[in-house]
Amino acid sequence: MKTCELCGKNTERLYRVLIENSILKVCIDCKRYGKEVDENNNLVNNKNTKVMEIVSEVIDEDYNKLLIKYREENNLKQEDMARKLNMKESLYKAIENKKIMPDINTAKKIEKELNIKIIKKEVLTENNRDRKNHDYVTVGDIIDFEE
Ligand SMILES: [Zn+2]
Repeated sequence: MKTCELCGKNTERLYRVLIENSILKVCIDCKRYGKEVDENNNLVNNKNTKVMEIVSEVIDEDYNKLLIKYREENNLKQEDMARKLNMKESLYKAIENKKIMPDINTAKKIEKELNIKIIKKEVLTENNRDRKNHDYVTVGDIIDFEE
């Protein structure tokens, strides 16, 4: 067993990483805090360590305001909008009143028919996502802790 120089955990495999100007041998969990280097201390350009980006489509929270704006600008009634979008008037009203959130396909149909934008693209990086979901300590925290 080897010991991670950052968190002190025992591990089968250590990775050489550059963290704040020093080379440390760390476990796979701590690897992300630094940049991986090879035996000659050259940075390794490993595709697997590339930050992953996840693009997700979300419906704009103000989608109903955009619908109302469109409707008012075009002098349309709710029933006209329903007809335009080929949906029941009751459904359209529920969507406009935010009682029902349109699903992504309905939202796309609305965008196409009305030529407005109600879908937002959110780009999440692996890092962002981790930070949102877990409260893990940052490199700075660990170094302070060790001192
Ligand atoms: Zn570690």
